[in-house]
Amino acid sequence: MTRLVIAIGGNAILNPSKGSPAEQKRMIDETCREIAQIIQKGYDVVLTHGNGPQVGNLLAMQEECGSVMAQPLDVIGAQTQGMLGYLLQQSLDNRLRESGIKRQVVTVLTQVVVEERDPSFKNPTKPIGLYYPEFRGLKMIEQGTKMVEDKKGYRRVVPSPMPEKIIEEEIIKNLIREGAVVIAAGGGGIPVILRNGLLEGVEAVIDKDLTGSLLASVIGAEIFLILTDVEKAALNYGKDNQADLDEITAAEAMRYVEEGHFGKGSMEPKVLAAVKFVKSGGKAAIISSLEKAVPALLGRTGTRIVA
Ligand code: ADP
Ligand code: MG
Repeated sequence: MTRLVIAIGGNAILNPSKGSPAEQKRMIDETCREIAQIIQKGYDVVLTHGNGPQVGNLLAMQEECGSVMAQPLDVIGAQTQGMLGYLLQQSLDNRLRESGIKRQVVTVLTQVVVEERDPSFKNPTKPIGLYYPEFRGLKMIEQGTKMVEDKKGYRRVVPSPMPEKIIEEEIIKNLIREGAVVIAAGGGGIPVILRNGLLEGVEAVIDKDLTGSLLASVIGAEIFLILTDVEKAALNYGKDNQADLDEITAAEAMRYVEEGHFGKGSMEPKVLAAVKFVKSGGKAAIISSLEKAVPALLGRTGTRIVA
């Protein structure tokens, strides 16, 4: 069986501010129908997912509700992993039942080690949560929160360190060996540091595509499939001369990254994660949309990055 890690986007598929819980459920069911189809084709699937919109929601709730003690980001990461893990686990279980496939689905609450000395801790760049008007943004800066300003207002920024090690790696491998469909490292994993040999949560958000790449490498996946809301990555994206990419090498991908073709914080981390995966021995990384997941796996569409 071909082992496959699938990373699904937080925005394209699971945005809670875009719909009611019922609509959410429908979207998750759609997603899981695709995943179940892939499992039915005989792929050994491990699933990971984003959590950006969900983290944003929890932060907004905390900030609107002054009487409740705010939780740090590692705890919020764990909350969203549990929440999305539950929704995906139940829906995927149901889709597999409908198809008569007897597989257990399990979510592993996953911690990911980052380096305490990672440069991103000194220079946080990842915007998260709500946009604030200027007066509030400036007040938050005064109180010591790191904020950035863009067209829509002020937004909190947090470190986005590199994922170094998945703490639950062995248990994930054991579960796969036992035939389970594993959901792991949601939202890039809960960021932890190792201090004097002990784990400690930190205020950061790890990029889910980079963690997905690490997960795919450590479990020995052949293919890393990144599902988002575009069918292919493109050069000159959104311009008149946009050119969609079919198959490119890691070296070509890096040249396009340097030329600035991919959106920072959106397509660029996907391409970097894809490159990292094939450079550490993976056969191919594929970037495509959820609807095109099956044809992309069969090589009929999507952007395929190879060594
Ligand atoms: P996800 O939630 O799946 O991680 P992102 O919004 O982070 O999704 O990334 C996907 C988005 O990247 C697309 O919707 C697209 O607008 C954007 N993007 C930026 N640069 C490119 C590019 N060169 N080719 C294709 N899409 C791009
Ligand atoms: Mg993203």
